[in-house]
Amino acid sequence: MNSKKDYYEILGVSKNATDDEIKRAFRKLAKQYHPDINKEPGAEEKFKEIGEAYAVLSDKEKRRQYDQFGHAAFENNGAGGFGGFSGFSADDIDLSSIFGDIFGSAFGGFSGFGSSRSNRQNRPAKGKDSLIRMNLTFEEAVFGCEKTINLDLDEKCSKCNGKGGFDESTCSTCNGRGRVISQQQTMFGVFQSESTCPDCQGTGKTFRQTCSACRGKGHVLKNKDIVVKVPEGVDTGNKIRITGKGSAGYNGGPNGDIYIEFKVKDHPLFQRDGEDIYLEVPITVTQAVLGCKKEIPTLQGNVILDIKAGAQNQDKLKLRGKGIKVPDSFRKGDMIVILKVVIPTKLDRIQKKLFKELDETNLENSLEFREFNRYID
Ligand SMILES: [Zn+2]
Ligand SMILES: [Zn+2]
Repeated sequence: MNSKKDYYEILGVSKNATDDEIKRAFRKLAKQYHPDINKEPGAEEKFKEIGEAYAVLSDKEKRRQYDQFGHAAFENNGAGGFGGFSGFSADDIDLSSIFGDIFGSAFGGFSGFGSSRSNRQNRPAKGKDSLIRMNLTFEEAVFGCEKTINLDLDEKCSKCNGKGGFDESTCSTCNGRGRVISQQQTMFGVFQSESTCPDCQGTGKTFRQTCSACRGKGHVLKNKDIVVKVPEGVDTGNKIRITGKGSAGYNGGPNGDIYIEFKVKDHPLFQRDGEDIYLEVPITVTQAVLGCKKEIPTLQGNVILDIKAGAQNQDKLKLRGKGIKVPDSFRKGDMIVILKVVIPTKLDRIQKKLFKELDETNLENSLEFREFNRYID
């Protein structure tokens, strides 16, 4: 599907490398390919590649998803799409914060990796994403449902229209550039680096009057109800993305997204394995021996199960299509019935008499007994 290189390969580590090994490999390569040091063509690309690989492999959850789905784990597909399980895209990876972790703050202002965060004040940036964990009953997950969540989201301040203040003027510290240049001593020598102007936070403008409603932030927190359509067939750990319903963006940037991660409660009878449902059905000794018709519950209502004479304990019967719908497809899983022959431990007088009479008949008339008895005789 895509020609992206394997993250482990990029860092030159094995699939079961420890966090420490990954970090070491990353440090070494990042120093080698840092564009301020390495002027060879392609070094910067390589540097970014290394950063991306590290961003994923150094994050337990992302690494797990990558191991499971490969690069597909980080490809977003459309709004509310079910494939968006992972909830992250490579674009979301904030390289400057990763390099900051490794090299210290000196690289925060490195031009190649200005993060949306540090520039949020002067160019459009997407609003914050929110992750909500949602508990579902077994049935809600299996059949899908609609649920309302309540959360606090940033909204553009209506009083100042998101600007943060009134009576704008050009910032005198940075002369309206929004960035200031400073020199920093780093492990690679002295670097001139640009950083966000501390007085205007990068906007290049200051206000004579700060907005009191948002205290200059341009955003206010608002409590909101959001209706979530839970698709049929979700399971614990699945995520969906609600695009553009998260916190307001900055400077006309788009809203953030809301990610919903599901946790599904167990059912007292049905056991779920992906799209299949397992159901243990207790039957009596005589039902097993003689066969019977037994009413059992399924997700789609009760059905009559035809148990053939001579059924054995742990026999499995498959009911095709009685499982859970596969998300984003028309396919349905199956229901697998496991028979559990219950040997009675308390018998009344009549039952005891009948079992005794039965015992006097020759029940050891099957291959298993004949094989076994041969070794005794
Ligand atoms: Zn300024
Ligand atoms: Zn305001």
